[in-house]
Amino acid sequence: MKIAVLPGDGIGPEIVAQAVKVLDVLAKDGLKIELEYGDIGGAGYDAAGDPYPAATSKLAIDADAVLLGAVGGYRYDSLPRPMRPEQGLLRIRKELGLFANLRPAVLYPELASASSLKPEVVAGLDIMILRELTGDIYFGQPRGLRRTPDGEREGFDTMLYSESEIARIAHVGFGTAMKRGKRLCSVDKANVLETSVLWREVVMEVAKNYPEIELSHMYVDNAAMQLVRNPKQFDVILTGNMFGDILSDEASMLTGSIGMLPSASLDAHGKGLYEPIHGSAPDIAGQNIANPLATILSVAMMMRHTFGNEAAAARIENAVKKTLAEGLRTSDIHQEGMRKVGTREMGDAVAARL
Ligand code: NAD
Repeated sequence: MKIAVLPGDGIGPEIVAQAVKVLDVLAKDGLKIELEYGDIGGAGYDAAGDPYPAATSKLAIDADAVLLGAVGGYRYDSLPRPMRPEQGLLRIRKELGLFANLRPAVLYPELASASSLKPEVVAGLDIMILRELTGDIYFGQPRGLRRTPDGEREGFDTMLYSESEIARIAHVGFGTAMKRGKRLCSVDKANVLETSVLWREVVMEVAKNYPEIELSHMYVDNAAMQLVRNPKQFDVILTGNMFGDILSDEASMLTGSIGMLPSASLDAHGKGLYEPIHGSAPDIAGQNIANPLATILSVAMMMRHTFGNEAAAARIENAVKKTLAEGLRTSDIHQEGMRKVGTREMGDAVAARL
């Protein structure tokens, strides 16, 4: 397992160091794991004058999987756009062809009161949002700003999906549902948008290859409502780039704890970039208080989705559950009566339970 490790900025290096402790335990137990470190984001700019240095690009291309912390920081906010840390992320996603973004929203029973929804609505929540990441209105051409003949300013974008783009992400969706509860809900806006009419048609065609999966369709406005009304009705949600952008943020906040949620972005061959959904949290960087669990759970996703090692994935997830069940909490998820620990202590605790 050749893994490129890109800690990035802010709390990135602190939380990635805890995930590496978990990888070290797996390596000691016999998995052949090879780690190589690289700079990305502000760290890339500092080291090589580029948020995605050539050396990092080579590392990422050669690796089987990438583990990323987070990028961004106040110091870089005034740089010209191509030098900004976020460009490093956009470039690595594009270069590696990462079109499938998997974001689980899981609420551990111990953390049910962290959600802004009633505990009975969210306790035990376990849904997976699959968002297409490289197409749709964010990339469609033409786009731009112009003036109408009577001089008014006008902005326009193009929502566009080809059949092959839809089929590719739909296959990932059905494959994901096969490994979970075998239910897939495809979210679109087929009552209004032509792109969505094609989306729905292609998803139904792909469904013929997966007779075991129960497929349903939902309009995006209804999906947004159902996610807060009764989120546990969903298993896997499959959707396009823009709808997925919005719904995945909504779903992640159902759990109330941004420091707990991992993500995976996959290419067509299972290679993936794994990272927590949160950013570099410059407000708490360097204080040993960031929650490393999202990053540790990203390693579990890596084991499952790139290396097909379900046993290692489940082992990591169980170690996290055990640590929470024993009452250890970083300050973002801390409650009365629990034991408050720092970033390093949390990493050590999970590694020990592993
Ligand atoms: P953020 O996710 O970094 O932080 C939002 C809030 O959540 C902050 O109060 C932070 O302290 C807290 N938080 C985040 N992760 C935490 C953790 N693991 N443990 C405890 N608390 C945590 O979002 P932001 O403040 O909007 O952005 C900060 C920087 O991160 C910006 O430069 C932004 O561009 C960048 N960013 C990067 C990514 C990424 O690398 N994928 C994603 C989002 C934002």
